[in-house]
Amino acid sequence: MGGTEQNYVNEAFDTNWIAPLGPNVNAFEQSIKQKLGNNVHVAALSAGTAAIHLSLELLGVGHGDEVICQSFTFSASANPITYLGASPVFVDSELDTWNISPVLLRKAIEDGIAKGKKPKAIIAVHLYGMPYKISEIGTIAKEFEIPIIEDSAEALGSSYKETPCGTFGDIGILSFNGNKIITTSGGGALVSKNKEFVERAVFLATQARDDAPHYQHSNIGYNYRMSNVLAGIGRGQMEVLNDRVNARRANHQYYKDKIGQFEEIEFLIEPDGYFSNRWLSCILTPSFEIREKLRLALLDENIESRPLWKPLHLQPIFRTSKHFVDGTSESLFERGLCLPSGSNLTKDDLDRVVTTIKNVLS
Ligand SMILES: *Cc1c(COP(=O)(O)O)cnc(C)c1O
Repeated sequence: MGGTEQNYVNEAFDTNWIAPLGPNVNAFEQSIKQKLGNNVHVAALSAGTAAIHLSLELLGVGHGDEVICQSFTFSASANPITYLGASPVFVDSELDTWNISPVLLRKAIEDGIAKGKKPKAIIAVHLYGMPYKISEIGTIAKEFEIPIIEDSAEALGSSYKETPCGTFGDIGILSFNGNKIITTSGGGALVSKNKEFVERAVFLATQARDDAPHYQHSNIGYNYRMSNVLAGIGRGQMEVLNDRVNARRANHQYYKDKIGQFEEIEFLIEPDGYFSNRWLSCILTPSFEIREKLRLALLDENIESRPLWKPLHLQPIFRTSKHFVDGTSESLFERGLCLPSGSNLTKDDLDRVVTTIKNVLS
């Protein structure tokens, strides 16, 4: 926590706004808007997953539809597709950003169209905070007139050509889960330049109640709005977002300076115009064996590290889903490792990680 969160939470208690609406929710949405730009509208929700679910619903995804999703991501990017009775079509990554490949995306779309099933949406992810190929992916989406859901759950504070992540898709989603760069313990947001989308999202997120004195419903609704108590935490967290991004980027730079000289270690470089919040500091090794050697040596020192995301087309639950892959994300999964990346790591903490890795490699 940054320090001021408790004040906003107390405000909620003092004014008895203990509900999934209230002044903290409004102010939190305003502060997100300030960060992302005044041309966007924001709905604070109970989770990033809820935001993806509502995005798909807003875009009219329903039973039997197909939705393209980046394979190299956390399962929450794709799970909501199945909530609606639709099917995910997974697309592999490219090596410049580790995100959805423009070449394979085009292939997946053309295949869908050829089979009479044009994909209803594209879920593209800024994994680990690195923006996906905004321009290439945006051009393809426009060409085929397919809307983009921009999964910016890991990328608050990242940008492409100075434009903040979260604002590139037809709809963007954010997460404030406990593990993200800032947190409300649990929470998320839906972001769009289209005001009607955001108003409709708030309507659906509050049980889709019609305008009537009694409770009347013409739509199936959800209980997805953010609590006013948690939005208080969010208000305080927004004040320290820049500090958190700086801390994460400093972690990454420290690792790069200290172990970047080993030929067994590769870092993901920011292409020109890309700015990553470096949510997690990740390295790529030449092989699964070396990756495991490093991971186990760190574990021996009581230091947790983790393999990169397991691609969704390899997950047991999605094994039968359509996929357009070329081995890129599978190889990243086998060879990559997320190093300790918390915003509160001390220099001693970082040195313990660095020393352990150096001992294995030298
Ligand atoms: C965390 C995360 C989500 C889901 O957000 P929640 O707030 O945890 O529901 C979705 N996509 C990605 C890439 C994530 O990392």
